[in-house]
Amino acid sequence: MKKGELIFALDPNDAKECKKVLYLLESLSGILTWVKVGFQAANILGPQGFEKLKSLNYKIFLDFKFHDIPRTVERDVGIYTHRGVDMLNMHASGGFDMMGAARKGADMSASKAGIDTPILLAVTVLTSMNSLDFDKHFASKRGITEQVIYHAKNAKNAGLEGVCASPLEIESIREACGDDFVIVTPGIRPKWANQGDQKRITTPSEAIKRGADYIVVGRPIIEADEPVKAVHDIFDEIENA
Ligand code: C5P
Repeated sequence: MKKGELIFALDPNDAKECKKVLYLLESLSGILTWVKVGFQAANILGPQGFEKLKSLNYKIFLDFKFHDIPRTVERDVGIYTHRGVDMLNMHASGGFDMMGAARKGADMSASKAGIDTPILLAVTVLTSMNSLDFDKHFASKRGITEQVIYHAKNAKNAGLEGVCASPLEIESIREACGDDFVIVTPGIRPKWANQGDQKRITTPSEAIKRGADYIVVGRPIIEADEPVKAVHDIFDEIENA
């Protein structure tokens, strides 16, 4: 069985905390491979921060969750492909054409620069929503899991490599989209961590057993008294799953 990889969500509250986390990343270089950069981190780090992460040998997951008209997303994805990110995402609800345009933007930009294309992912339904929230906000004729599968199939047909989804949906996505489809799961909470605003969650161990390719963990590490120990505890869970 393949084992999932840990992606550390670099979600600092401010520049001071960001500096602290960069020290942490210096000490974890060579141990941890993936870092997720969202808007807060990108804003604090600036373009040179991406270079700094690269120089520490981290792979970067750009979590900007693009959602716009196809032409805009094509160009946005092209810009960050050129910047050398290794994975990026967009909302599947942006539609089939938007995801196809993202594919085109990544492929054209990578071929022009002679670099690899990033792994392109679609966000299905945010893990901060449970089925009550989903029904209330979307009034969809589909249930939450059906909606996740609908988005996953659409993403696959548009040429994306995978999805961000809850670990609770892994088996259904695998059944619908196959073993090679990449499944990245936020909504991960070790037993010792607070749930926060995440609702469709599992422990790292359960996500790995269900077949996650990558698990995303932020606050349980950043807010831990001993973040390096928290990372190693999660590695142990992955290893022993
Ligand atoms: O702190 P926590 O472990 O909840 O961090 C999860 C990270 O994953 C956050 O940065 C959040 O924005 C991101 N994310 C998510 N759900 C998605 C995609 C990304 O929670 N569908």
